[in-house]
Amino acid sequence: MSNVPLVDLKLQHEQIADEVDKGFSEVLAVGDFIGGRAVSAFEAAYASFVGVPHCVGVGNGTDAIEMALRAVGVGSGDEVILPANTFIATAEAVLRAGAIPVLVDVDDQTLLIDPTCVKQALTERTRAVIGVDLYGQVPQYEALVDVLERRSIVIVEDGAQSQGATRGGRTAGSFGVIAATSFYPGKNLGAYGDAGAVTTQDPGLARRVRLMGAHGSGKKYVHEEFGFNSRLDTLQAVVLKAKLGRLSEWNAQREAAARRYIDLLSGEVAVRLPSVLPGNAHVWHLFVVRVPNRDDLLRELREAGIGAGIHYPVPIHLQPGMAMLGYPPGAFPITERAAASVVSLPIFPGISNSQLERVAEVLLAWVSAR
Ligand SMILES: *Cc1c(COP(=O)(O)O)cnc(C)c1O
Repeated sequence: MSNVPLVDLKLQHEQIADEVDKGFSEVLAVGDFIGGRAVSAFEAAYASFVGVPHCVGVGNGTDAIEMALRAVGVGSGDEVILPANTFIATAEAVLRAGAIPVLVDVDDQTLLIDPTCVKQALTERTRAVIGVDLYGQVPQYEALVDVLERRSIVIVEDGAQSQGATRGGRTAGSFGVIAATSFYPGKNLGAYGDAGAVTTQDPGLARRVRLMGAHGSGKKYVHEEFGFNSRLDTLQAVVLKAKLGRLSEWNAQREAAARRYIDLLSGEVAVRLPSVLPGNAHVWHLFVVRVPNRDDLLRELREAGIGAGIHYPVPIHLQPGMAMLGYPPGAFPITERAAASVVSLPIFPGISNSQLERVAEVLLAWVSAR
């Protein structure tokens, strides 16, 4: 019986191995391990890919969100609205910026932030709203803008799962006044370790983020702002630059795989397929279906050698580490129902038709045996 992993990163490495070896040798020869040409080359290439003038590489995606929030002036006592259905890092970044995370429920179709819920959560202390491009598609940022009552509330994009996604012709990383992304190895654009970036149209915000990640310093021995250490590692920049050149092709392969799953699984009422918002190009970071009796399916898939994931099994407001937020069970019903029913099926560039068919076969057999 063939094994189907949830993701297979080796397939990507094979394609860029020579370029990475060459780039690493150049860095080793010059010795510019912090900053250096590889970092600026990647930042320029990624900014142009996103379609904004500025990209600042940082240490990881969680830092990127915190730094984006701090750059727009979010701080102590401010409320920041974010979807309850996201990776916990989105909420951690708000807390680390000194602000209060205010969670809202998501849309039942897409499981993305619901603008109507955002409207209900606004208070005079709301300072920012984080739109999370969950699973690989962008939420309705134009609807988020519409519900904000004041211009002083800013939209920040968490684009950790959406490199290359578009909405209405705009690319993920260009929504909101500032956007954060993660290059964690498993993301659509993944490094060989931790890495992240902030992208923006605003040169002032870009400069603040760059200073912040370099101990508040733009000039040696002068620390003009509060800062810390969070920079894009030079060797990671080599990997990211090589991968960026293939990202559109890899995203197209994810799209083809998603279409194949949809063909194979549609018509099966017990399997709720992902839905794509009109105007969106989805990049299928994850292919998330919803089923009743999820844990039973998960066991079945694992027994058949299929790597399935759950994104996410426990919503952040019910995590012990977020108990201080004070949300009771039942606070976000759509998010909580999703947590009990979502399954992420294997998807990655280079997944074969026979692997996709094998996953669908096991899933459909489970459905008809129930
Ligand atoms: C991965 C991820 C992050 C955090 O990125 P790290 O690089 O792991 O710090 C933040 N938000 C979302 C939605 C993510 O998927």
